[in-house]
Amino acid sequence: MNAIPTSVLDRLKNAVGPKGFIADPADMEPFLTEWRDLYRGVSPLILRPGTAAVVAEILKICNDTGTKVVPQGGNTSLCGGSVPFDGGDEIVLSLGRMNAVRSTDPLNDTITVEAGCVLEQVQNAADDIGRYFPLRIGSQGSCQIGGNLSTNAGGTAVLHYGNTRDLVLGLEVVLADGRIWDGLRGLRKDNTGYDLKQLFIGAEGTLGVITAAVLKLFPKPSDVQTAFVAVPNVGAAVSLLEVARQQSGDQVTAFEIIPRIGIDIVTRHIPDTVDPIADPHPWYLLIELSSGGTGGGLRATLEAILAAGLEAGLVRDATLAESGAQGEMFWRIRDGMSEAQKPEGGSIKHDISVPISRIAEFIERADAAVDAIVPGFRSIAFGHIGDGNVHYNPMQPADADKQAFLAKWHEVSTAVHEVTAELGGSISAEHGLGRLKRDEITRFKSPLEIELMRGLKQSFDPKGILNPGKVVASA
Ligand code: FAD
Ligand code: ZN
Repeated sequence: MNAIPTSVLDRLKNAVGPKGFIADPADMEPFLTEWRDLYRGVSPLILRPGTAAVVAEILKICNDTGTKVVPQGGNTSLCGGSVPFDGGDEIVLSLGRMNAVRSTDPLNDTITVEAGCVLEQVQNAADDIGRYFPLRIGSQGSCQIGGNLSTNAGGTAVLHYGNTRDLVLGLEVVLADGRIWDGLRGLRKDNTGYDLKQLFIGAEGTLGVITAAVLKLFPKPSDVQTAFVAVPNVGAAVSLLEVARQQSGDQVTAFEIIPRIGIDIVTRHIPDTVDPIADPHPWYLLIELSSGGTGGGLRATLEAILAAGLEAGLVRDATLAESGAQGEMFWRIRDGMSEAQKPEGGSIKHDISVPISRIAEFIERADAAVDAIVPGFRSIAFGHIGDGNVHYNPMQPADADKQAFLAKWHEVSTAVHEVTAELGGSISAEHGLGRLKRDEITRFKSPLEIELMRGLKQSFDPKGILNPGKVVASA
């Protein structure tokens, strides 16, 4: 094992003070294991700094001594980017103690928060001043803003509000050598050269450590209408999106797809969920319209959309939420999709996007390709169809051996990603690359793109101390 010298560890401990590190193996465990349990890392030290100045001190020591650093937020990401490798020569830099809301500016519609704020805390802080922060993802109770920024998280409201990248006006970043870049500007217009903040967003901790951000706020939705809708096929779902956007004047804030088998496994494994529609159907949509206006009337709009859908053969049946509680139950079904797969055995995860117009073709072709490798597999395709992004997670046949199925991960993924590429898609729509897709991406990006990415890495982190081996392998 490539141990970090004790003298370096002591300097790091001194920099953070006694409350700012964890070195006890049992206490370190949650920081070393990632959410899916696919990767377990080894590290001698978890650092938990309380200020950007201390982060700067840490990185200066690490850069001087060539010590590798894995930045970590809520550790909920799904590509193995947030935990160290098993060499024992990386320290984990956890931002969780930096969780202050630094300021709010209701007139500018902005909030300035530290990287370790949990997403839900930011949503609540916006709510407290009568505003709305629209990033919504299943892990919002534990993921942190720094992690959201570093993965450019997507989620269920991208259709209307954009990805995390679209919700940021400014950043504070500690660079690899310990210098602090104060880019905490709250400007909606700023064309003064390269937009540096966008380089750190989605960089998965490989270019700098984000310590704070200025985020955009929006009017609080006052009229929110939710429907659970049965549709005959994926093509009909896509056509219904067009109808819904047109008829609502672009007030569709969520448009999520769930297959029939999704309803079966969620109602089997997730408490407080029931099938919202009496008869079974092949596919379902969770549709949400929302508006910040005071006029109301969205319910009538949603009813008109569904009536038009029924008329056109795009909708088979639908239930509108009659109460907030029923709307929450619809979302529990959608949000339970990841968790409900676990007790069903192995599933091979993909996070792909294709142009929305080609999503039905993607699912059909991917199903055929996977069935040729694992006959009888169970197709689970769900998620953000409104963004052309589905989580395509082929699940093992009910009676199959889990390990034998998972042994086909590479073969299955290769086939799915080839279909994705043929349709002009992306093999990582919202989860990033981490270590899981670091090598796979080189098959889909041109050598020129990889060269440019390596050039950026070299320029921002010449000694290669920041999350090495993630996103892009060194040349
Ligand atoms: P971490 O996992 O801790 O880190 C993610 C990456 O960012 C790592 O590479 C890490 O090194 C780096 N990093 C973390 N903090 C910093 C920082 N301050 N500075 C620099 N680098 C940093 N994702 C979606 O996009 N959409 C979804 O709908 C979605 N749903 C999910 C549902 C569930 C149940 C779960 C478990 C996950 C889901 N995710 C989703 C994935 C995950 O929650 C997101 O990727 C989230 O943005 C990660 O945030 P985190 O704080 O947990 O980051
Ligand atoms: Zn998702």
